[in-house]
Amino acid sequence: MTDKYAVFGNPIAQSKSPFIHTDFAAQTQQNLSYEAILAGVDQFPQSLRLFFGQGGKGANVTAPFKQQAFELCDELSELAQLSGAVNTLIKLADGRIRGDNTDGVGLVTDVEAHFGELTHKRVLLVGAGGAARGCLKPLLDAGAKVTLCNRTFTKAQALAAIFADIGDVNACEIAQLSQPFDVVINSTSAGLAGELITLPSEIINAQTHCYDMTYSAQTTLFNQWAGAQGAKSVADGLGMLVGQAAQSFYVWRGVKPNMSDTMAQLRLQMAQ
Ligand code: NDP
Repeated sequence: MTDKYAVFGNPIAQSKSPFIHTDFAAQTQQNLSYEAILAGVDQFPQSLRLFFGQGGKGANVTAPFKQQAFELCDELSELAQLSGAVNTLIKLADGRIRGDNTDGVGLVTDVEAHFGELTHKRVLLVGAGGAARGCLKPLLDAGAKVTLCNRTFTKAQALAAIFADIGDVNACEIAQLSQPFDVVINSTSAGLAGELITLPSEIINAQTHCYDMTYSAQTTLFNQWAGAQGAKSVADGLGMLVGQAAQSFYVWRGVKPNMSDTMAQLRLQMAQ
């Protein structure tokens, strides 16, 4: 029997998740289907209930429903609790829905694959929205020393306070940033709107690696800027996308897919 999975979002037509999970399933010989479901902005709980009522085994959730998914779960992983957001849902044997958040594992896996281990590395995390919050615990668990900055400074302060017990994290006003970091991660949505965040050039030197959670066929605006400041290397968020999907797949199926082949196919598709 074919197990049913789906991703919910609005918009959703652009989602690469159906391709990624179908590829993972073929690779690992798992009998499953995976579709993209467009939920009306006020219809997400009903759409989700219908999906699980009709036998759905698990789901991914993307913008703008991750916080709502968090509210709807019967049970949450520790990461989901700390993130305040859920991107992975699984129907348990007793019918209850458990929520997890795999974005941070996806980020750390990809950042370390590109730039090496994060232990003791000074990391600047730019942005204090849902993506930043979901990634903080995995970054701190990896041993990174995290500085948070954000256009709205109070949000960075609030996040730093939530995670202060877990690891080495502090908040800093953008205008006060004056030292280079080992790794700079852009978690803002500025690039999606074609905007470039304003940051001091002092945060980057010839040893700094830069990562943009946004991804595109061309070098992202943030990575163009980082390259122009002399960053050692840059990477975009396509690997994070595939990494979070791989972790969701593992949560559902107990099998770890190989990400590199799927990544290569996605890069080819994006270049066309
Ligand atoms: P949110 O809307 O929750 O947060 C947006 C953040 O961006 C806030 O910190 C906001 O600052 C900041 N921001 C927006 N515009 C600007 C600007 N012009 N200048 C400076 N800061 C700005 O979004 P998410 O956290 O959910 O997502 C952030 C990004 O991460 C998106 O681009 C998303 O696509 C990407 N992402 C990628 C994933 C992947 O797998 N590659 C997974 C998840 C997210 P303020 O608080 O001041 O408004």
